Amino acid sequence: MSRYRLQPTPAQEQALLEHCGHARYVWNLAVEQHAHWKPGRASAPGFAEQCRQLTQARAEHAWLRGGSIIVQQQALKDFAQAMANFFGRTHRRPTWRRRGRGEGFRIVAVTAGDVRRLSRTVGGVRVPKVGWVRFRWSRAVPDGVKSYHITRDRAGRWHVAFAAIPEPIPAPGTGEVVGVDRGVAVSAALSTGELLNAPTLRETEKARLRRLLRKLARAKRGSNRRGKVKAAVATLKARETDRRRDWVEKISTDLARRFDVIAVEDLKIAGMTRSARGTVEAPGGNVRQKAGLNRGILAAGWGRLVERLEHKAPGRVVRVDPAYTSQRCSACGIVDRTSRESQADFRCRSCGYAGNADVNAAGNIRHAAGHAVSARGGPPLGGPANREPQRDLLLVG
Ligand SMILES: [Zn+2]
Repeated sequence: MSRYRLQPTPAQEQALLEHCGHARYVWNLAVEQHAHWKPGRASAPGFAEQCRQLTQARAEHAWLRGGSIIVQQQALKDFAQAMANFFGRTHRRPTWRRRGRGEGFRIVAVTAGDVRRLSRTVGGVRVPKVGWVRFRWSRAVPDGVKSYHITRDRAGRWHVAFAAIPEPIPAPGTGEVVGVDRGVAVSAALSTGELLNAPTLRETEKARLRRLLRKLARAKRGSNRRGKVKAAVATLKARETDRRRDWVEKISTDLARRFDVIAVEDLKIAGMTRSARGTVEAPGGNVRQKAGLNRGILAAGWGRLVERLEHKAPGRVVRVDPAYTSQRCSACGIVDRTSRESQADFRCRSCGYAGNADVNAAGNIRHAAGHAVSARGGPPLGGPANREPQRDLLLVG
């Protein structure tokens, strides 16, 4: 979810408040129906039945009919989800919504044409029955937005949060497992030997960024000039972020298409053992400096890559303990801390295997995934993932 500050005009704000009111009304009706239900009685109406009732209610009440069917039906859907969470014991029972507290509504079936960039700092989102509402374009809006949630906090500030969970990509069914290692010098190494580089700024852009940063250091606080330089820096950084996001989308789709199982390091464990692996502590050449500059960005990009893989290949991503992945020989299995000759090179003293150190680590991650997979009784190898994308039931009314 990425959240942005919404900037409705006063007239739009009235219309948005009306949507909030409808969503709250429908939600509270659902709460009431379920509150009357007691064990032994006929079951409380489910989502489909409630949708039929909503159609009836819209036929009878002009004020409800005047509102958006998407807003109203989605409130029912959110309620159904809240009840499922309650029965799944992950959440408390859904309760009444009150005016002015946690107001909001959700819009689904959003298409690419419903969100657009109007200028460097302003975006627009099309809201049913309201029209184009401006929002602060504080960062790139993710690709493939399928729904968004508009909320109003107690201070009266409006926000829009875009959700873009891509449809799962069917597994190729070849039984192939790939290990992916997060490198420092390159962004990712595959056990197949491929080295993937995340895009960075071009040399001319980097030079410009360095000049701007020097200017920024000299500019007086609060001065006009400082504001301009800051904006120029932000633009360059946003450009890099956008390129990396695009790259993550491309790579995650590619991996989900080509392999049945994708093995990655478990980041929680990796965070603790990373320095022991010697990739950051004993880098070769000027890698250390580069790592310092890029570490944060790379870490963020990596987390995003794993997240998108889990969206696109649900149930096919295996997280493995990264212990020894840099010291173990992926060819013969010997663990020898002297094998990693430098940041980039791995040479096994036992069997003579030599290769890129990150590719060797990726091979070990692939190997560890094989163990993890057989230990839990077989992977979803072959065949498409049997998770149907959830379809929204849209009523015509
Ligand atoms: Zn070896």
